[in-house]
Amino acid sequence: MNTAPTFSNDTASVCIVGSGPSGLYAADAIIRKRPDCAIDIIDRLPTPFGLVRAGVAPDHQGTKNIVRQFERSMTKPGVRYLGNVTVGRDVTYDELKACYDAIILAIGAPVDRTLGIPGESLAGVYGSGAFVGWYNGHPDWAALDPVLDHPGVAVVGNGNVALDIARILAKTPAEMATSDICRHAAEAIAAAPLTDIYLLGRRGPVEASFTPAELAELGHLERARPVVDPAVLEGQSADAVSDPRERKVKEKNLEILADFAARNDEKPVRIHLLFYAAPRTILGAEGRVSGLRAERTRVEGGRAVGTGEHLDLDVGTVVTAIGYRCSPLEGVPVDERRGVIVNDEGRVEDGVFVVGWAKRGPSGVIPANRADSMAVAAHVLAHLEANGGRKQGPDALDALLEKRRVRVVCFDDWQKINAAEVARAADGRPREKFIRIADMLAALD
Ligand code: NAP
Repeated sequence: MNTAPTFSNDTASVCIVGSGPSGLYAADAIIRKRPDCAIDIIDRLPTPFGLVRAGVAPDHQGTKNIVRQFERSMTKPGVRYLGNVTVGRDVTYDELKACYDAIILAIGAPVDRTLGIPGESLAGVYGSGAFVGWYNGHPDWAALDPVLDHPGVAVVGNGNVALDIARILAKTPAEMATSDICRHAAEAIAAAPLTDIYLLGRRGPVEASFTPAELAELGHLERARPVVDPAVLEGQSADAVSDPRERKVKEKNLEILADFAARNDEKPVRIHLLFYAAPRTILGAEGRVSGLRAERTRVEGGRAVGTGEHLDLDVGTVVTAIGYRCSPLEGVPVDERRGVIVNDEGRVEDGVFVVGWAKRGPSGVIPANRADSMAVAAHVLAHLEANGGRKQGPDALDALLEKRRVRVVCFDDWQKINAAEVARAADGRPREKFIRIADMLAALD
């Protein structure tokens, strides 16, 4: 356990469920205003940081530096990290509500959305959460062992997650040498006979939600080059985009795509950016993917409308990067359509709040969570002002977890796991992650 500071009986207590960016930004906002408060951050994994560890691309190490800031919040007096604690298994939602003055659900949106088209259950079809979790060593997905034995792979979606996946598949081992991609995934990708990666957008270049820096990266790869049909860019303009910042992003994307379209260099791997192509059927043979049939579309009133013209892609793997839903927590209402926890500006019920992707859906880069979590923290602080100090707080949770013999991973334990991962990394690599919870816990013995 972290050193539990001694508080008087009327100390206000907060439990944050989930140690990803949105939860940690919320913790920081609360402890700054109420340093007298007890904050417990619990996570079902022994390792903290949510998508910073398991979502951010392994070759984007700079983005991961944000953890230093998070570590400062997690080690402030009054704040504890309790990893390897699962709500619904080790402690119930109702028990948490009975223990703490306020609960903040920061549980993200870990469930892949599906396309709802024929062929989606064939071997060789993966959601981006699973696929990214596999190469990033998330214990839920480390054993995925995806089919990668065909020269063609389709990645469905025109967001940054789709770009990450295409780029990780396209990079050479040398380009990944300073990344923290897990060894099993690095080896599988290096051995795959990939020559053609198809990125499918159901709408056009202007509608794509790529950000320019991430899109431009496709133009600087050692063995792969982006392929864009110049005809698709004809008449494309961002003039109709009303928000000036968004317009600038779109204009920059169009410039980068025009540069890609003008290239004719030869490289062994091509990343085809296919716009106006909506997946309709995943074709199969003998239970596994043998192709992807897409329908040509046009955009009408902002929506993709099928034209009746089809194209078949020769691929053996399909990865969908089309967004996520939150995972239901017993007793917490979910908006089934949006895949988020039902909330009013972050308020779920008396004393319960939600932040991050579980609140607003799967959008926004990591820093975008800061303002959102700060706004919800203001509601939490107001609630604590009116109701804080009535419940037993951390002591009550500790008693429950002790009774149930839960092996809680505290912040100091996490640092030991961290040090062990750094120590087992090959030269030049930041870490070699443990991919099984048992191995993480064994590093503590
Ligand atoms: P996203 O940006 O919302 O992209 C989702 C894509 O899926 C869109 O192109 C969407 O098309 C498409 N899509 C949805 N349903 C579809 C369907 N049925 N058929 C075909 N296409 C479909 O989401 P994301 O890529 O998952 O990223 C999530 C957030 O994380 C974003 O804010 C992203 O910027 C951020 N992120 C940032 C980085 C980075 O900064 N490096 C890296 C990864 C993620 P429509 O537009 O037509 O709906």
